[in-house]
Amino acid sequence: MLFDTHVHLNADQFNEDRDEVIKNAQEAGVTHMVVVGFDRKTIPIALEIAEQYDFIYSAVGWHPVDAVDCTEEDLNWIEELSTHPKVVAIGEMGLDYHWDKSPKEVQKEVFRKQIALAKRVNLPVIIHNREATADIVQILKEEDAHEAGGIMHCYSDGVSYAKECLEMGFYISLGGPVTFKNAKDPKIVAEEVPLDRLLIETDCPFLAPHPNRGKRNEPAYVKLVAEKIAEIKGESFETVAKVTNKNAKDLFQIS
Ligand SMILES: [Zn+2]
Ligand SMILES: [Zn+2]
Repeated sequence: MLFDTHVHLNADQFNEDRDEVIKNAQEAGVTHMVVVGFDRKTIPIALEIAEQYDFIYSAVGWHPVDAVDCTEEDLNWIEELSTHPKVVAIGEMGLDYHWDKSPKEVQKEVFRKQIALAKRVNLPVIIHNREATADIVQILKEEDAHEAGGIMHCYSDGVSYAKECLEMGFYISLGGPVTFKNAKDPKIVAEEVPLDRLLIETDCPFLAPHPNRGKRNEPAYVKLVAEKIAEIKGESFETVAKVTNKNAKDLFQIS
């Protein structure tokens, strides 16, 4: 009973074999997933997939890399879509300082607006963070994001920031990097963060876990993430699967 909380089955990389990939996931024990849409192109496809499969849900938001393209009309559209019965979160949103397409100030503004939106519509937020943890934590605090709650998706920073996020009621989601041989921080985070605050994800088609690193990632591989967390925590695979599944259902209010 694995819950992959962050997939991009709406990406072009799955155009040829999407149904087969979904079937593989079910065979690997994936019982739920959230397809994340983050712009005008990917949101409608995410909703289409969620409408087609009852165990697939969707999140809608605007990606920070493209913040410069985000208009008020786009945000109104996302707010309207938030009432769709399969939409369980707003995002992904956040800050990405790796790419310089959108100036930091623009990213911050679009991020703040989406937190406010999520609070209005009463849904949790999914946070994308690349090289911007300090600013993200500051904005989450300033915007009272604890009222919405949410996920630090594919968390890759250290334990001290993770603890600040936990204090705000956020969940920490770990993906493929926790399985990488050279990844120190995600392993320490897996050890230190209580299991009832952890989620698992693939972020497919990116960041495939070891031993599939470098290949196209897919939801079936979330099993490798759960196995690694179980090994690090000294828990059974079943316990990690069960608890992270319950955490996700609680957050997304899926019964
Ligand atoms: Zn992301
Ligand atoms: Zn993503």
